Amino acid sequence: MPHGYSDRNAKRLRRYTGLTHAQAKQLLKDRAGKVPRIPAATGPQRLLEALIFEHLRGDVDYFAHPIGIRSVFPQHDSLVVSLDASSTRRGYPLVAHALDGLLPAELPKSEQSEDDVRVIGVPGIRITRASRKGLRVSLAGTKASVFLTCDASTNWADLLADHRAQLEAARYRPCWSEPKMTPAERAFHQDHAEMARAVEEASWLPSGLLRRSALLHEVSAAYCTRYWVTWDQWRIELKHDPGVKPPHNAFINHLTDPKWGMNLAVDKLHCQCDVQWADPHYDRQCTVELSSPTSRPGVLQVRFRAMGTWCNAYDTYRDLKRAGANPAWLRRVMPQHHHRRRIVS
Ligand SMILES: [Zn+2]
Repeated sequence: MPHGYSDRNAKRLRRYTGLTHAQAKQLLKDRAGKVPRIPAATGPQRLLEALIFEHLRGDVDYFAHPIGIRSVFPQHDSLVVSLDASSTRRGYPLVAHALDGLLPAELPKSEQSEDDVRVIGVPGIRITRASRKGLRVSLAGTKASVFLTCDASTNWADLLADHRAQLEAARYRPCWSEPKMTPAERAFHQDHAEMARAVEEASWLPSGLLRRSALLHEVSAAYCTRYWVTWDQWRIELKHDPGVKPPHNAFINHLTDPKWGMNLAVDKLHCQCDVQWADPHYDRQCTVELSSPTSRPGVLQVRFRAMGTWCNAYDTYRDLKRAGANPAWLRRVMPQHHHRRRIVS
């Protein structure tokens, strides 16, 4: 295989995963030319990744990367997710947000009621290994494996101990070390059986997005990325600074690429990029709807919002700087602010 070919592929994989060139080359070597280049997760692995993508909370504020994920290392039966070491404006680390969102704990008896949610976090998530470097999480009774990690400044074992101590002080009961689902977790699943089924059936979609989450940093030109789900209807909203044209065709082409992307097809594309009548003061939105060509459950709508000139996102620019966003990326997604700052300082 010519040298240039493997370098080109590694470069391509970096755009999807955020891995270093050397890591990307290694992953491709392990795949030995198999298609899809980024393996798809199946069964409990896929469900675990779907739940992590939904509850990670990497978009609650501005972090170094659009949804707080620096890189992912996807393999068929495991996934490594490297999170940003950034904190929110209030000084709360993203990794602590992730623990709040993911780890299940039962509410104190005094706060439980018959028709109320009795568990916070994601029922069924388990920690199979906690070290200074990261947490290996799974789903109770399965071999699913996602390793959450960060840079060396984060001590996950300490973070987890603090999280447990705080919950226990407030009389919550952590479930993440129990070998089986607790009665409260089982009750939660029974009460929400229909929704749990919908989440599981559409789990290929969020799992596939998580495995390609670097596209939001490497290909998207949005300075702000937010996403949410209602049952199996996923929404991603991308905000672009005035003067930055949303690269929606490039983004969608990457997402639907036959070798590197997901098995998704565009159902609708409503584009307002070049409408003559639009007043630049106001926002424009191009909307793309995607779903599986083989009718698997789950729909993805991506909203590419081009903010109008009314919008001054300089405060957001400062937040992104504080969070440690890459200067080359800031220059690309917020050129006006980046340029202005260089003149001022
Ligand atoms: Zn458009």
